[in-house]
Amino acid sequence: MSLAETARPAAAGEPGTLVEVQGLDRVFDLSRPWLNRLIERRGRIRLTAVDGVDFAIRRGETYALVGESGSGKSTIAKMVVGLLPPSGGSVTIGGTDVWAGRGRDEQRRMRRRIQMIFQDPFASLNPRWRVEAIVAEPIKVFDLVPDAGRRRERVGELLSLVGLDPRDGQKFPHEFSGGQRQRIAIARALASEPEFIVCDEPTSALDVSVQAQVLNLLRDLQKRLGLTYLFISHNLAVVRHVATRVGVLYLGRLVEEAPARALFAEPLHPYTRMLLEAVPDIDMEGIERQSIAGEIPNPINPPRGCHFHPRCPHAMDRCRAEVPPRYAVGEAGVRCFLYDPDAT
Ligand code: SF4
Repeated sequence: MSLAETARPAAAGEPGTLVEVQGLDRVFDLSRPWLNRLIERRGRIRLTAVDGVDFAIRRGETYALVGESGSGKSTIAKMVVGLLPPSGGSVTIGGTDVWAGRGRDEQRRMRRRIQMIFQDPFASLNPRWRVEAIVAEPIKVFDLVPDAGRRRERVGELLSLVGLDPRDGQKFPHEFSGGQRQRIAIARALASEPEFIVCDEPTSALDVSVQAQVLNLLRDLQKRLGLTYLFISHNLAVVRHVATRVGVLYLGRLVEEAPARALFAEPLHPYTRMLLEAVPDIDMEGIERQSIAGEIPNPINPPRGCHFHPRCPHAMDRCRAEVPPRYAVGEAGVRCFLYDPDAT
Protein backbone atom coordinates (compact mmCIF):
# COMPACT_ATOMS: atom_id res chain seq x y z
CA MET A 1 0.00 0.00 0.00
CA SER A 2 1.41 3.42 -0.93
CA LEU A 3 1.90 6.24 1.53
CA ALA A 4 -0.82 8.20 -0.25
CA GLU A 5 -3.37 5.46 0.39
CA THR A 6 -2.55 5.32 4.07
CA ALA A 7 -2.63 9.09 4.60
CA ARG A 8 -6.12 9.60 6.01
CA PRO A 9 -7.24 12.67 7.98
CA ALA A 10 -5.62 12.47 11.39
CA ALA A 11 -8.77 12.22 13.49
CA ALA A 12 -11.02 10.10 11.24
CA GLY A 13 -12.46 7.13 13.09
CA GLU A 14 -10.57 7.91 16.30
CA PRO A 15 -12.30 7.97 19.68
CA GLY A 16 -13.36 11.52 20.49
CA THR A 17 -14.26 12.32 16.88
CA LEU A 18 -17.61 14.10 16.61
CA VAL A 19 -17.82 14.92 12.90
CA GLU A 20 -16.58 12.77 10.01
CA VAL A 21 -16.77 13.88 6.39
CA GLN A 22 -15.78 11.23 3.87
CA GLY A 23 -15.45 11.48 0.09
CA LEU A 24 -17.86 14.43 -0.02
CA ASP A 25 -18.83 15.55 -3.55
CA ARG A 26 -21.23 18.16 -4.84
CA VAL A 27 -21.93 18.68 -8.55
CA PHE A 28 -24.31 21.41 -9.76
CA ASP A 29 -26.02 21.00 -13.13
CA LEU A 30 -26.01 24.48 -14.71
CA SER A 31 -27.32 23.31 -18.12
CA ARG A 32 -29.95 25.23 -20.05
CA PRO A 33 -33.26 23.39 -20.62
CA TRP A 34 -32.92 20.47 -23.06
CA LEU A 35 -34.81 22.27 -25.88
CA ASN A 36 -32.40 25.23 -25.74
CA ARG A 37 -29.48 22.81 -25.73
CA LEU A 38 -30.92 21.05 -28.75
CA ILE A 39 -31.42 24.28 -30.74
CA GLU A 40 -28.12 25.82 -29.66
CA ARG A 41 -26.29 22.47 -30.05
CA ARG A 42 -24.81 22.77 -26.57
CA GLY A 43 -23.99 20.01 -24.12
CA ARG A 44 -24.66 19.86 -20.42
CA ILE A 45 -22.73 22.18 -18.09
CA ARG A 46 -21.70 20.70 -14.76
CA LEU A 47 -19.83 22.45 -11.98
CA THR A 48 -17.98 20.33 -9.45
CA ALA A 49 -18.08 22.57 -6.37
CA VAL A 50 -16.78 19.93 -3.93
CA ASP A 51 -14.59 17.03 -5.00
CA GLY A 52 -13.81 14.10 -2.67
CA VAL A 53 -13.34 16.05 0.55
CA ASP A 54 -12.37 14.13 3.72
CA PHE A 55 -11.87 15.55 7.19
CA ALA A 56 -12.76 14.84 10.80
CA ILE A 57 -13.34 17.06 13.83
CA ARG A 58 -12.68 16.01 17.41
CA ARG A 59 -15.04 17.07 20.16
CA GLY A 60 -14.20 20.51 21.55
CA GLU A 61 -12.03 21.44 18.54
CA THR A 62 -12.34 24.19 15.96
CA TYR A 63 -11.75 22.94 12.44
CA ALA A 64 -11.27 25.80 9.98
CA LEU A 65 -11.89 25.50 6.24
CA VAL A 66 -10.15 28.25 4.29
CA GLY A 67 -9.97 29.20 0.64
CA GLU A 68 -10.80 31.92 -1.84
CA SER A 69 -14.31 32.65 -3.02
CA GLY A 70 -15.52 29.72 -5.15
CA SER A 71 -13.34 27.15 -3.34
CA GLY A 72 -16.41 25.25 -2.10
CA LYS A 73 -16.23 26.04 1.62
CA SER A 74 -19.80 27.32 2.04
CA THR A 75 -21.14 24.42 -0.07
CA ILE A 76 -19.42 22.01 2.34
CA ALA A 77 -20.91 23.89 5.33
CA LYS A 78 -24.43 23.52 3.91
CA MET A 79 -23.96 19.78 3.31
CA VAL A 80 -22.58 19.28 6.82
CA VAL A 81 -25.58 20.92 8.50
CA GLY A 82 -28.11 19.14 6.27
CA LEU A 83 -29.20 22.13 4.14
CA LEU A 84 -27.86 20.80 0.81
CA PRO A 85 -27.72 17.14 -0.24
CA PRO A 86 -24.32 15.86 -1.39
CA SER A 87 -23.82 14.24 -4.80
CA GLY A 88 -21.63 11.63 -3.11
CA GLY A 89 -19.86 10.76 0.12
CA SER A 90 -21.09 11.03 3.69
CA VAL A 91 -21.30 13.31 6.72
CA THR A 92 -21.53 11.62 10.12
CA ILE A 93 -22.14 13.51 13.36
CA GLY A 94 -21.84 11.60 16.61
CA GLY A 95 -22.09 8.35 14.64
CA THR A 96 -25.32 9.33 12.82
CA ASP A 97 -25.26 9.89 9.07
CA VAL A 98 -26.72 13.36 8.37
CA TRP A 99 -28.01 12.27 4.96
CA ALA A 100 -29.06 8.65 5.51
CA GLY A 101 -32.82 8.07 5.53
CA ARG A 102 -34.07 8.79 9.06
CA GLY A 103 -37.35 8.98 10.90
CA ARG A 104 -38.79 12.35 11.94
CA ASP A 105 -37.70 11.96 15.56
CA GLU A 106 -34.11 11.26 14.60
CA GLN A 107 -34.10 14.19 12.16
CA ARG A 108 -35.38 16.44 14.92
CA ARG A 109 -32.69 15.24 17.35
CA MET A 110 -30.04 15.83 14.69
CA ARG A 111 -31.31 19.37 13.91
CA ARG A 112 -31.12 20.24 17.59
CA ARG A 113 -27.51 19.08 17.88
CA ILE A 114 -26.28 21.20 14.93
CA GLN A 115 -26.61 24.96 14.56
CA MET A 116 -25.23 27.51 12.13
CA ILE A 117 -24.07 31.12 12.50
CA PHE A 118 -24.11 33.12 9.26
CA GLN A 119 -22.00 35.93 7.85
CA ASP A 120 -24.65 38.65 7.88
CA PRO A 121 -26.33 38.83 11.30
CA PHE A 122 -28.90 41.37 10.09
CA ALA A 123 -30.15 39.16 7.26
CA SER A 124 -30.37 36.13 9.57
CA LEU A 125 -32.59 37.85 12.19
CA ASN A 126 -36.29 38.49 11.56
CA PRO A 127 -36.54 42.34 11.67
CA ARG A 128 -40.20 42.25 12.81
CA TRP A 129 -39.58 40.08 15.86
CA ARG A 130 -38.33 41.24 19.24
CA VAL A 131 -35.02 39.69 20.28
CA GLU A 132 -36.79 37.64 22.97
CA ALA A 133 -38.97 35.93 20.33
CA ILE A 134 -35.96 35.36 18.04
CA VAL A 135 -33.90 33.66 20.77
CA ALA A 136 -36.90 31.75 22.16
CA GLU A 137 -37.86 30.25 18.79
CA PRO A 138 -35.52 27.18 18.90
CA ILE A 139 -36.51 26.60 22.56
CA LYS A 140 -40.16 26.44 21.46
CA VAL A 141 -39.54 24.41 18.29
CA PHE A 142 -37.69 21.71 20.26
CA ASP A 143 -40.03 22.04 23.24
CA LEU A 144 -37.12 22.46 25.65
CA VAL A 145 -38.83 24.77 28.17
CA PRO A 146 -42.64 24.49 27.97
CA ASP A 147 -43.36 27.07 30.70
CA ALA A 148 -43.52 30.63 29.23
CA GLY A 149 -42.11 32.35 32.35
CA ARG A 150 -39.23 29.93 32.64
CA ARG A 151 -38.59 30.29 28.90
CA ARG A 152 -38.30 34.09 29.29
CA GLU A 153 -35.72 33.51 32.05
CA ARG A 154 -33.80 31.13 29.81
CA VAL A 155 -33.69 33.77 27.03
CA GLY A 156 -32.33 36.27 29.61
CA GLU A 157 -29.63 33.74 30.60
CA LEU A 158 -28.65 33.24 26.96
CA LEU A 159 -28.44 37.00 26.34
CA SER A 160 -26.20 37.37 29.42
CA LEU A 161 -24.06 34.47 28.20
CA VAL A 162 -23.27 36.37 24.96
CA GLY A 163 -22.58 39.66 26.79
CA LEU A 164 -25.97 41.39 26.30
CA ASP A 165 -28.45 42.67 28.86
CA PRO A 166 -31.49 40.43 29.49
CA ARG A 167 -33.62 43.58 29.01
CA ASP A 168 -32.37 43.72 25.40
CA GLY A 169 -34.93 40.99 24.71
CA GLN A 170 -37.60 43.70 24.37
CA LYS A 171 -35.78 45.48 21.52
CA PHE A 172 -35.80 44.85 17.76
CA PRO A 173 -32.70 43.82 15.73
CA HIS A 174 -32.34 47.26 14.07
CA GLU A 175 -31.68 48.82 17.50
CA PHE A 176 -28.33 46.99 17.77
CA SER A 177 -24.87 47.38 16.19
CA GLY A 178 -23.48 44.72 13.84
CA GLY A 179 -21.43 43.09 16.61
CA GLN A 180 -24.43 43.02 18.98
CA ARG A 181 -26.61 41.50 16.25
CA GLN A 182 -24.05 38.73 15.79
CA ARG A 183 -24.23 38.15 19.57
CA ILE A 184 -28.02 37.76 19.23
CA ALA A 185 -27.48 35.26 16.41
CA ILE A 186 -25.05 33.34 18.66
CA ALA A 187 -27.58 33.36 21.55
CA ARG A 188 -30.23 31.95 19.20
CA ALA A 189 -27.80 29.25 17.97
CA LEU A 190 -27.10 28.27 21.61
CA ALA A 191 -30.80 28.15 22.50
CA SER A 192 -31.24 24.56 21.22
CA GLU A 193 -28.24 23.46 23.35
CA PRO A 194 -26.22 22.21 20.36
CA GLU A 195 -22.90 20.37 20.55
CA PHE A 196 -21.73 21.37 17.06
CA ILE A 197 -21.90 24.83 15.45
CA VAL A 198 -20.96 25.72 11.88
CA CYS A 199 -19.71 29.32 11.75
CA ASP A 200 -19.85 30.55 8.12
CA GLU A 201 -17.66 33.69 7.89
CA PRO A 202 -19.15 34.90 11.21
CA THR A 203 -17.02 38.04 11.46
CA SER A 204 -16.42 39.07 7.84
CA ALA A 205 -19.35 41.54 7.79
CA LEU A 206 -18.14 43.23 11.01
CA ASP A 207 -15.78 46.14 11.67
CA VAL A 208 -12.22 45.01 12.40
CA SER A 209 -12.48 46.41 15.96
CA VAL A 210 -15.53 44.21 16.66
CA GLN A 211 -14.22 41.04 14.97
CA ALA A 212 -11.82 40.18 17.81
CA GLN A 213 -14.59 40.60 20.41
CA VAL A 214 -16.88 38.15 18.59
CA LEU A 215 -14.02 35.67 18.06
CA ASN A 216 -13.10 35.87 21.76
CA LEU A 217 -16.75 35.29 22.66
CA LEU A 218 -16.89 32.18 20.43
CA ARG A 219 -13.71 30.82 22.03
CA ASP A 220 -14.98 31.55 25.54
CA LEU A 221 -18.30 29.80 24.82
CA GLN A 222 -16.44 26.82 23.38
CA LYS A 223 -14.50 26.39 26.62
CA ARG A 224 -17.52 26.90 28.88
CA LEU A 225 -19.96 24.73 26.95
CA GLY A 226 -17.63 22.18 25.33
CA LEU A 227 -18.72 23.17 21.82
CA THR A 228 -17.24 21.86 18.58
CA TYR A 229 -16.93 24.31 15.66
CA LEU A 230 -16.54 24.09 11.91
CA PHE A 231 -15.26 27.55 11.05
CA ILE A 232 -15.50 28.75 7.43
CA SER A 233 -13.35 31.72 6.43
CA HIS A 234 -11.35 33.28 3.60
CA ASN A 235 -9.25 35.16 6.17
CA LEU A 236 -6.20 33.32 7.50
CA ALA A 237 -5.56 35.97 10.16
CA VAL A 238 -8.98 35.17 11.66
CA VAL A 239 -8.42 31.42 11.32
CA ARG A 240 -5.09 31.66 13.14
CA HIS A 241 -6.95 33.21 16.06
CA VAL A 242 -9.47 30.37 16.48
CA ALA A 243 -8.49 27.13 14.72
CA THR A 244 -7.19 23.89 16.19
CA ARG A 245 -6.87 22.28 12.77
CA VAL A 246 -7.03 23.84 9.30
CA GLY A 247 -8.12 22.50 5.89
CA VAL A 248 -7.17 24.52 2.80
CA LEU A 249 -9.54 24.27 -0.17
CA TYR A 250 -8.76 25.01 -3.80
CA LEU A 251 -11.44 24.59 -6.46
CA GLY A 252 -13.39 22.10 -4.36
CA ARG A 253 -10.43 19.93 -3.30
CA LEU A 254 -8.80 19.85 0.13
CA VAL A 255 -5.17 20.49 -0.84
CA GLU A 256 -3.65 20.69 2.65
CA GLU A 257 -4.78 19.77 6.12
CA ALA A 258 -2.74 20.23 9.31
CA PRO A 259 -2.84 21.30 12.96
CA ALA A 260 -3.10 25.12 12.90
CA ARG A 261 0.23 25.58 14.64
CA ALA A 262 2.06 23.45 12.04
CA LEU A 263 0.28 25.01 9.07
CA PHE A 264 1.16 28.56 10.07
CA ALA A 265 4.74 27.64 11.05
CA GLU A 266 5.47 25.56 7.96
CA PRO A 267 2.89 25.67 5.16
CA LEU A 268 3.47 22.81 2.72
CA HIS A 269 1.26 23.31 -0.35
CA PRO A 270 2.31 26.10 -2.75
CA TYR A 271 -1.27 27.44 -2.59
CA THR A 272 -1.22 27.62 1.22
CA ARG A 273 2.04 29.54 1.01
CA MET A 274 0.42 31.94 -1.45
CA LEU A 275 -2.52 32.51 0.91
CA LEU A 276 -0.17 33.19 3.80
CA GLU A 277 1.83 35.63 1.68
CA ALA A 278 -1.38 37.60 1.18
CA VAL A 279 -1.95 38.02 4.92
CA PRO A 280 -0.10 41.18 5.98
CA ASP A 281 -0.12 40.67 9.75
CA ILE A 282 1.21 37.16 9.98
CA ASP A 283 4.84 36.60 10.87
CA MET A 284 6.34 34.71 7.95
CA GLU A 285 9.96 35.02 9.01
CA GLY A 286 12.05 31.98 8.13
CA ILE A 287 9.69 30.92 5.34
CA GLU A 288 10.73 31.41 1.74
CA ARG A 289 8.48 34.03 0.16
CA GLN A 290 7.02 33.38 -3.27
CA SER A 291 4.94 35.51 -5.53
CA ILE A 292 2.44 33.44 -7.48
CA ALA A 293 0.51 35.22 -10.18
CA GLY A 294 -2.92 34.44 -11.59
CA GLU A 295 -6.51 34.17 -10.49
CA ILE A 296 -8.67 31.24 -9.46
CA PRO A 297 -9.74 29.50 -12.74
CA ASN A 298 -13.33 29.06 -13.89
CA PRO A 299 -14.69 26.16 -11.79
CA ILE A 300 -16.91 25.06 -14.71
CA ASN A 301 -13.79 24.23 -16.67
CA PRO A 302 -11.00 23.66 -14.12
CA PRO A 303 -7.43 22.82 -15.19
CA ARG A 304 -6.71 19.08 -15.61
CA GLY A 305 -4.51 17.21 -13.13
CA CYS A 306 -3.64 19.43 -10.17
CA HIS A 307 -6.10 22.34 -10.41
CA PHE A 308 -3.41 24.68 -9.11
CA HIS A 309 -0.83 24.01 -11.86
CA PRO A 310 -1.42 27.21 -13.95
CA ARG A 311 -0.51 29.32 -10.87
CA CYS A 312 2.17 27.09 -9.42
CA PRO A 313 5.88 27.95 -9.83
CA HIS A 314 6.80 24.28 -9.21
CA ALA A 315 4.45 22.73 -11.80
CA MET A 316 5.84 19.64 -13.54
CA ASP A 317 4.54 17.63 -16.48
CA ARG A 318 2.74 15.14 -14.24
CA CYS A 319 0.92 18.02 -12.48
CA ARG A 320 -0.90 18.78 -15.76
CA ALA A 321 -2.01 15.17 -16.25
CA GLU A 322 -2.51 13.48 -12.85
CA VAL A 323 -4.52 14.44 -9.78
CA PRO A 324 -2.18 14.45 -6.79
CA PRO A 325 -3.25 12.05 -4.01
CA ARG A 326 -3.02 12.91 -0.33
CA TYR A 327 0.50 12.45 1.06
CA ALA A 328 1.17 12.32 4.79
CA VAL A 329 3.88 14.71 5.99
CA GLY A 330 4.22 14.58 9.77
CA GLU A 331 0.82 15.50 11.22
CA ALA A 332 -0.25 17.10 7.92
CA GLY A 333 -1.79 15.79 4.71
CA VAL A 334 -0.97 17.51 1.41
CA ARG A 335 -2.11 16.93 -2.17
CA CYS A 336 1.01 17.92 -4.08
CA PHE A 337 3.53 15.86 -6.05
CA LEU A 338 6.40 17.73 -4.37
CA TYR A 339 5.77 15.43 -1.39
CA ASP A 340 5.65 12.15 -3.33
CA PRO A 341 8.18 9.93 -1.51
CA ASP A 342 8.44 7.70 -4.58
CA ALA A 343 9.34 10.54 -6.97
CA THR A 344 12.87 10.36 -8.33
FE1 SF4 B 1 2.27 22.68 -7.91
FE2 SF4 B 1 2.35 20.24 -8.99
FE3 SF4 B 1 2.14 20.54 -6.37
FE4 SF4 B 1 0.10 21.12 -7.95
S1 SF4 B 1 1.01 19.09 -7.64
S2 SF4 B 1 0.82 22.33 -6.25
S3 SF4 B 1 1.16 22.00 -9.71
S4 SF4 B 1 3.87 21.13 -7.65
